[in-house]
Amino acid sequence: MDLAMDVIDSPARMRELTDTLRQPASPLGLVPTMGALHEGPLSLIRRSVSECAATVVSIFINPAQFGPGEDLESYPRTFHKDLEICRQEGVAAVYAPVAGEMYANGFDTWVEVPSLASGLCGPYRPGHFRGVATVVVKLFSACRPDRAYFGEKDYQQLVLIRRMAGDLDMGVEIVACPTVRDADGLAMSSRNVNLRGEERERSLSLSRGLFRARRLLAGGEGSAAALIQAAREELDKVRAEVDYVEVVDAETLAPLETVEAPCRMMMAAKIGSTHLIDNILLEP
Ligand code: AMP
Repeated sequence: MDLAMDVIDSPARMRELTDTLRQPASPLGLVPTMGALHEGPLSLIRRSVSECAATVVSIFINPAQFGPGEDLESYPRTFHKDLEICRQEGVAAVYAPVAGEMYANGFDTWVEVPSLASGLCGPYRPGHFRGVATVVVKLFSACRPDRAYFGEKDYQQLVLIRRMAGDLDMGVEIVACPTVRDADGLAMSSRNVNLRGEERERSLSLSRGLFRARRLLAGGEGSAAALIQAAREELDKVRAEVDYVEVVDAETLAPLETVEAPCRMMMAAKIGSTHLIDNILLEP
């Protein structure tokens, strides 16, 4: 347990601190989060702490990535508990900037990666990925990490950030971490606390669909349409409101018709009023 953990709320102070945290030849790790930490982001934090000389965790509920009518106000907030978790995990500093300062009056610079933002969740969440890309650039500018850790749970976000970091020569290695699931298969998410009563059970249809598609593939079915149909059946059984189920290229996210190389099955569905996403690696 490291009692000396710093909690920083301004980009200027964060930059000063990273100067002191950075050591020659030892990477500085950043784990961007929106707080309400659970085993998902915790796995990223543990990996960074084990691989890097120092780890910064950012906790920022980024208003720019929430659309009108999305759950910005009701998004779970557990800041003091999050700080305690970071302290116990040996995090060197928590960067928790204030929204009003991150987007001060006149803020007018946005980062977009249109080819990766336009499909999958893109049409359902207009502006979401531009909000994500922009805040990640701001977090990278303040923390200047050598490595940044992102979860495969948010796979579209992960590939988009990786492309952005490469395209903009940011010098940050993007490290992908596997999806952490509950014992019954549900991908952990801070939004899972909103699942009420039988919604928790119905939400298992996402992972069931993905695993069913994977089994079908292992049995020799390589047609994306057939795999998608099998996954959709699980969602339909519980009357989930399906946004999409797609088989896509692992890097370009372009839809595929057959599985001939490692790729990704991606899905999003609404259970009650909770939007859930999940995805899985498909390997022929
Ligand atoms: P969030 O606070 O929801 O933005 O999540 C912070 C980071 O944790 C992101 O990189 C997420 O992709 C990652 N993450 C969230 N849930 C999981 C999970 N179940 N498994 C792995 N990573 C996750």
